[in-house]
Amino acid sequence: MIPVWLASRAAVTACSKGLPMSTAWRWLRSSAWASSDVSASTQPAREQMNYDVLVVGAGPAGLSAAIRIKTQCQSAGKEVSVCVIEKGSEVGSHILSGNVLETRALDELLPGWKDDPDCPIKVPANRDSMLWLASPSWSLRLPTPPSMHNKGKNYVVSLSEVARWMGRRAEALGVEIYAGFAGKRVLYGWDGHVEGVATNDFGIGRDGRAKSTFSPGVDLRARVTLLAEGCRGSLSEEVISRFDLRQAAGAEPQTYALGIKEVKRPRGGTR
Ligand SMILES: Cc1cc2nc3c(=O)[nH]c(=O)nc-3n(C[C@H](O)[C@H](O)[C@H](O)COP(=O)(O)OP(=O)(O)OC[C@H]3O[C@@H](n4cnc5c(N)ncnc54)[C@H](O)[C@@H]3O)c2cc1C
Repeated sequence: MIPVWLASRAAVTACSKGLPMSTAWRWLRSSAWASSDVSASTQPAREQMNYDVLVVGAGPAGLSAAIRIKTQCQSAGKEVSVCVIEKGSEVGSHILSGNVLETRALDELLPGWKDDPDCPIKVPANRDSMLWLASPSWSLRLPTPPSMHNKGKNYVVSLSEVARWMGRRAEALGVEIYAGFAGKRVLYGWDGHVEGVATNDFGIGRDGRAKSTFSPGVDLRARVTLLAEGCRGSLSEEVISRFDLRQAAGAEPQTYALGIKEVKRPRGGTR
């Protein structure tokens, strides 16, 4: 049974946008009602915010993109609004990797980063060794392949700290970053193009019903939506399959590997 309010909204949308009723109906269902988490009758209105660019994910990729867009537009004298949402409670909180960082891209993105006293990239790699851990008590030293030489070139970092710093640099450029907001579903326009992302609702009980603390997510709409969710992002997977992007790009099938990494505290070091 179609709720009366939704049918009348479809009619109003069809008139105001000059669309056939069936198209307006599909658009309304995809944008407002179909995937809401609580029953339509109990759901308070969702807020909507509009940006030029919306970035989903405040990892190195999303933050680099936001910084690059802002700096390029500023040097061209153009004003663009850029919003980044991050599902972690703060930027960097979902990024756990200890990391050897090659800084060539950073030289291009933020020239002069070495002079920023706030920058956490400070420890150059000063030794490389490659070991085959043959047993708990015995290892064999192997030659380090040239592609794994870090000494004299790269830095040992906490990627989480680097992301936090990049977040601060992005905010200083005017990027709006909202941590604690996960992109829950992709919003599509009436003609099927990606129009933004809806964030998660808060205050939903285990039974899927709204609790007294319920507050609805926000519909973030943008001219450009950039999905930077990292590996196997849920929204990215949806968009990849909906628009057949792997096939369109002639991409190889995605492969995954499991690795183990140990981060050691240096003798006398603080972390
Ligand atoms: C154990 C390990 C060791 C590594 N070591 C190295 C190394 O030594 N050197 C190196 O160069 N690289 C290393 N990497 C790879 C490096 O971490 C990744 O290439 C890099 O983090 C990818 O950046 P990204 O921004 O694409 O994704 P991520 O770093 O994964 O960031 C994605 C961000 O998006 C957020 N997010 C995801 N989905 C949503 C959503 N729907 N809504 C809102 N936010 C969302 C996540 O919380 C996360 O903060 C390592 C990776 C791992 C796992």
